[in-house]
Amino acid sequence: MKKLFIYFLSICCFFNMFLIVGCKDKDVDSCKHDFYSDVISESTCKDKGMIRYTCDKCQYTYFDDLKLVDHDYESSNVGATCTEEGYTLFECTVCGKTHKNNFIPANGNHNHKETDRKKSTCLKQGYIEYTCDRCGDVYKQTLEISDHEYEKVTINGVTIYSCKYCGKEA
Ligand SMILES: [Zn+2]
Ligand SMILES: [Zn+2]
Ligand SMILES: [Zn+2]
Ligand SMILES: [Zn+2]
Repeated sequence: MKKLFIYFLSICCFFNMFLIVGCKDKDVDSCKHDFYSDVISESTCKDKGMIRYTCDKCQYTYFDDLKLVDHDYESSNVGATCTEEGYTLFECTVCGKTHKNNFIPANGNHNHKETDRKKSTCLKQGYIEYTCDRCGDVYKQTLEISDHEYEKVTINGVTIYSCKYCGKEA
């Protein structure tokens, strides 16, 4: 009985081979496929990869897409300034896609403090420079031309008053 079964199997194998060569489509239809897979190309975050399935028995093949993989985000923190909010910036190292998260509100108004001053003369306008001690924002306030500054000058025993900047006599 066992011998007969083996004999029967070998006949089947013989016919199977004949069918693969002779009438493949029919064989594919009747095959209980047993697929193995090969990854043809790996997925990235922007391009789907491809996988090929091949039936071990009848060599029937088909292709399928692989799922996109997650973005490979790198994060960096952007601090809040007086006027603009801060956030954590996420940027994909593969495709460059970005998104922002963890928003920090702006500090509010600047906190300007006087950092430099040049006084006006009768010839030239001076200024006061203010710098925000939180964000470094700078602005200058221009000062009005000032009056002459007279000095007492004695030349050859004669005393006069003249402006020390422009020389105008009083
Ligand atoms: Zn098959
Ligand atoms: Zn990406
Ligand atoms: Zn500021
Ligand atoms: Zn003057």
